[in-house]
Amino acid sequence: MSSSPAIKLYAMHGGGYLCDMSFLTAGRNIGTEVEIPLGYFLIEHPQGRLMFDTGANPKVVRDPENYPSTAAGATYRVREEDLAPNRLAEIGLRPEDVDLVANSHLHDDHAGGNICFSHATFLVQFAELQAAYWPQVYERENYVREAFDLPVHFEELDGDYDVFGDGTVTLIQTPGHSAGSQSLVVKLPETGTVVLAADSAYLTASLDELLVSTWVWDPRLQVRSFKVLRDYRRRENALVIPGHDREFWKTVRKAPDYYA
Ligand SMILES: [Zn+2]
Repeated sequence: MSSSPAIKLYAMHGGGYLCDMSFLTAGRNIGTEVEIPLGYFLIEHPQGRLMFDTGANPKVVRDPENYPSTAAGATYRVREEDLAPNRLAEIGLRPEDVDLVANSHLHDDHAGGNICFSHATFLVQFAELQAAYWPQVYERENYVREAFDLPVHFEELDGDYDVFGDGTVTLIQTPGHSAGSQSLVVKLPETGTVVLAADSAYLTASLDELLVSTWVWDPRLQVRSFKVLRDYRRRENALVIPGHDREFWKTVRKAPDYYA
């Protein structure tokens, strides 16, 4: 690629979530409790700043009794420093400095921090907005109104979306985990292709072994999306960052360090 724009990708640690490992690997690891990591990302592009997911809602830390998901028993392990405004502050930014927010999907652990970005334009798949407002009965506990029923501007997407129009930062549809799940493909001048899979691949093993999860909207589409993500590894030798892989997350460079 000639004259590639100077793009930086920051990975931010958003705390953890306690759950049974079998929620991530259907039928396997039943009875094994794990703390899975939560993460979100900032992309600095010459044309603007984009957050990919926003982590937990500040109420998870500050007012858990009055936040629907924690009041109902969701076991977050999130500290004050794990909240998006505080991670941004570590690299000298405020939420107002972010122009665009893309949610991989609208589950509470990925969109909870949306409330901190009320000035931003949100890039969300239309199918995900529809599903969030009236979810299937088996995925109802994953959607919390506070994450998406906000007076913000939603740019409703219906397909893949080239965010800055130069092919460097592209949202791709990877449904299955939820109805409107999307992943982000970032082409960096030095690192090459990085794919932020979010929950379209909980684990690297999800891709390697086509492991469906217990938390899933449509397993058939989930497997199809695994194959789409795997193809980026095969074709472009991409670094595919899964959504909640403890071991993999340890190897990811965290802010204030970044990928260029
Ligand atoms: Zn998640």
